[in-house]
Parts: sequence; structure tokens; C-alpha cells
Amino acid sequence: MANQYDVLVIGAGPAGYVCAIRAAQLGQKVAVVEMWADEANQPVLGGTCLNVGCIPSKALLDSSHKFVEAKDHFAHHGIQVSAPGIDIPAMMGRKQRIVAQLTQGVAGLLKHNGVDVIQGRGRLHSNRKVEVIGLDGESQHIEASNVVLASGSRPINIPPAPIDNDMIVDSTGALEFPEVPQRLGVIGAGVIGLELGSVWGRLGAEVVLLEALETFLPMMDQQIGKEAQKIFKKQGLDIRLGARVTGSEIIDGKVHVTYQSNGEEHLEVFDRLIVSVGRRPNTEDLASTDSGVTLDERGFIFVNDSCATEVPGVWAIGDIVRGPMLAHKGSEEGVMVAERIAGKPTQLNYDCIPSIIYTHPEVAAVGKTEQELKAEGVEYKSGTFPFAAIGRALAAGDTDGMVKILADANTDRILGAHCVGPSAADLVQQMVIAMEFGSSAEDIQLMVFGHPTLSEAVHEAALAVDGHAIHMANRKKR
Ligand code: FAD
Ligand code: NAD
Repeated sequence: MANQYDVLVIGAGPAGYVCAIRAAQLGQKVAVVEMWADEANQPVLGGTCLNVGCIPSKALLDSSHKFVEAKDHFAHHGIQVSAPGIDIPAMMGRKQRIVAQLTQGVAGLLKHNGVDVIQGRGRLHSNRKVEVIGLDGESQHIEASNVVLASGSRPINIPPAPIDNDMIVDSTGALEFPEVPQRLGVIGAGVIGLELGSVWGRLGAEVVLLEALETFLPMMDQQIGKEAQKIFKKQGLDIRLGARVTGSEIIDGKVHVTYQSNGEEHLEVFDRLIVSVGRRPNTEDLASTDSGVTLDERGFIFVNDSCATEVPGVWAIGDIVRGPMLAHKGSEEGVMVAERIAGKPTQLNYDCIPSIIYTHPEVAAVGKTEQELKAEGVEYKSGTFPFAAIGRALAAGDTDGMVKILADANTDRILGAHCVGPSAADLVQQMVIAMEFGSSAEDIQLMVFGHPTLSEAVHEAALAVDGHAIHMANRKKR
């Protein structure tokens, strides 16, 4: 059988659909296989990110932030409003309209680029032959010169707290509560726990986060992590570290959760419980053993730096391969793979992938943390600058947090940038650009930053790397 497609992508999440669009732009004949269907049996495009991840969570984060602004902050600005109320159905309706707009947009883009959407569950066999089982159970076989696996991930479940999609939910259920729980438990104080805990906390829930590890946000720079922890505590999030959940039970419409901490057994009673303890790749049934594709012990598909598997013409991208489970990481892998298939030697810089927690203030980072540099024995310089000394942050009444820049002590090259503070994501993105261009701390010091802007904190942190920040007393003087 002749190859029907140049590129066949399995999975239409941000990794897969972006790969498909880029491949089509480069002149390839492309199809994407997607198994997710709506009530009308139409394919659901956009994957976790657009449907139950990045976008709906940010819609609720923005709505709940506006509520807090109106409730707690408007008066400081001299604006009098009567006590704001919450209309959960309206909030959820808005979130769903944004999701629909974006997923329909993806459908339009695929169509515009001539990408075929094939509905069904894809499974890779040998010689890049893909079996697609449709919603009706019928199977068809499709051959392609290149197959790109992009089947994404799903929440991890833990035996002490089985999901019942009512009282005990994963991240998807936590985007759909019909009312604000009075007391909300969250297992796992990672990215999802903090974002969705913040949503419901802002709307009035008393939120308790039970985190197994003793360190808060261990993957973040610890100075920034400690600062973030203080800010979240001030906001009312009750974060309990070193808490190992041992069981849960529904009694009289409440979730009773037991956990061990400091050798003692504790009991907490919640109205709802979110389990957010990480995600696992969707790879169990993705490739038959004769496909030649191999998995590591955690279920991730083995790939090289260019996302090529060990099988020629088979690639894997997004949440099913090593690296952070982030939409933008998967999308850029999709672009890289599409370009490599078209013969371009594109390479993604894995050292410059930003990560962000969209709380308020945001927590954002790129590159190395101070603890990583210490562990690697790299000689470094560090500069920090607090938002409390930034005019624009004071004007906005948004002064919590700081920017931190780490540079090589010998070459001055920027190795990492970290921030907890207002617009941290956008400020760190400036440093992603700087780092991609191999910038030194001095390069940033010599640039002109608009006044008054939050980005002046980046400028001042770069100046602080060499002890000459202007708007604070420097510890080291140069
Ligand atoms: P997915 O988005 O999971 O898409 C995979 C697609 O493949 C799905 O549509 C699935 O139905 C389909 N599929 C699976 N198996 C098959 C098969 N055999 N045949 C056919 N189709 C198949 N990341 C960020 O960068 N920023 C954020 O703000 C952010 N917020 C998040 C918030 C939440 C609540 C969650 C849960 C995640 C969030 N993420 C965020 C993570 C982000 O959603 C994922 O990293 C991203 O969606 C992964 O993209 P992907 O294309 O690899 O997989
Ligand atoms: P995570 O890895 O960020 O956090 C999980 C937390 O749960 C960790 O702190 C872990 O120590 C803890 N944990 C694990 N088992 C536990 C247990 N039994 N009891 C108590 N705590 C336990 O995972 P997540 O928050 O579920 O998010 C999953 C993925 O989705 C992440 O990899 C993240 O990259 C991605 N995501 C990204 C964003 C974003 O970019 N803003 C938002 C949401 C999700």
C-alpha cells in the first residue's frame, strides 16, 4: 500500500495540532488522528491544554482575581463598590465559551492548512502503519512516511484518595465545581494545586494543601519558592508540607482525609477534595510491541534531542516524552519535528523553556536555579530586586515579590532568571529572549527600560548582579 500521508499525527493537543499545521505549511500531506469526541460525536481538538488545562484554568484564575480585586482592593484605589457577589454558572459559562472559541479556532486552522482530521483511537504498528479504531468500533489502517506520536497525559490517581468525580476530583473536576466549597482539601501543592486552590480560595473556600514533600516547590529557585510560600500564606492558603495522605472516606457528604506528618496521624474534613499529584503519559496502548517504539520505566517514550524515536520515521512529542509537561514545550517540539521532517535542521533549546505558575502574583522561571548551580559547582553571581521598590508596582498596589538573576561569575553570561511578582511570566519571557541571544548581565544593565514599568525590576536585578542597583542599598558595592 502506498503511503497515504507524508505526516500522520496521533493526538490533536498543543503538541500534535501545532506539528500538523507546521508540517502542512511546509508542503506535506498531513492528517491528525484524535479520539476525543463531544456529545455530538464531533472530534474535540486542542487536547488537555485547550479543553481541561491551560485555558479553562486561566479563565477561572482571571475571573476569581477580578472578584478579589473588586472585594479587597478597589477601596484602596478610592473606588467604592457594593459587596460583589459570585455567579458560578456565569463564570463557568464564560470559561466554556473561551474554550469553544479556541477549539473551533484550531478546527478552522487545520482546515485552512489542508490537514485531514481522522476521528478515532490511533495505534502504531510496524512500518509506520497506524490502526485507527473509530467511534463505531470499525478499524482502518493508514500508512504514512512519518508518524508523530502526541497522545499527551492524564492525572495520576493515588489509592488513598480514589477519584469519584463528585466529592474527590482531579484537575478536570476542579474546573467544574457547581458551587464554592466551604472547606477544600488539595492533595499536592504543585502547579495545579496552587492554581486551582487559588481559584476556589479567592472565591471564598478555606483551602488546605497537603504536600508530601518537606520542601515547597522544590523545582523552583528556593529563594523565590520561600518568598512565594510567604505570599500564599498571607493570602490564606494553608500549605502543610511533609503531609503523607493515608486514606479518605466520604461520611455524611463530607470527605474525611487522614494524613501522617511528623510521625503523627491527622484527620481533616473537607467539602471537596482535589487530587493533583502529577500526570502520567498516555502511552500504554499507543504502540504495539512490533512497532519498535520503547518506553522508559515511567511510561515515557524514548526520544533523542530532536524527538526522534529509535524507529526511523517515528517521532514523539509533548507530554509523552522527557522534559517538563508544558504546552509550549510540546508545541515547539511539534514545530521542530515538522521542520526536521521537511529537511530543516531545527533544534529546540531545552535550556530556555520558561515555566510559570499563574497564581497572583505569578511565579516564573527560566534556566538554572541557585541550588542547581551550587550542585554543579558553577561559580555564579546573583542579583535580586524587590517589587516594593518599583514605582509602577506601588502605583498598581502590587508590590509582593522580587526578580532574581543568576549569571556566570567568570563570563557574566545569564544562567537563570526567576521571579515571583506581578506579570512574572512576561518579565521572565524577556529573559528567555536575552538568554537565547547569549546575553550577559552587563548587556541587560546597559539596556534602556521604559519608566515606569514592572520590567525595571529586571533591569535593577541585572544591575544588582554586580552590586550597583540604583534604587536600593546594595550589599556588595562595585
Ligand atoms: P494533550 O494536550 O494531552 O493532548 C493529547 C491529545 O491526544 C488528546 O486530545 C487526546 O484525546 C489525544 N489522544 C490520546 N491518545 C490518543 C490515541 N491513541 N489516538 C488518538 N488520539 C489520542 N501547560 C502550560 O504550558 N501552561 C499552563 O498554564 C498549563 N495549565 C494546565 C492546567 C491544567 C489544569 C492541566 C491539567 C494542565 C496544564 N498544563 C499547562 C499542561 C498542558 O495542558 C500539557 O502540557 C499539554 O496539554 C500537553 O500537550 P500534548 O499535546 O502533549 O497532550
Ligand atoms: P506537580 O508535579 O506540579 O505537583 C504535584 C505535587 O504533588 C508535587 O509537589 C508532589 O510532591 C506532590 N505529591 C505527589 N504525590 C503526593 C501524595 N501522595 N501526597 C501529597 N502530595 C503528593 O503536578 P500537578 O500539579 O498535578 O501538575 C501536573 C503537570 O501539569 C505538571 O507537570 C505541570 O507542568 C503541568 N501544569 C502546568 C501548569 C502551568 O504551566 N502553569 C499548570 C498546571 C499543570
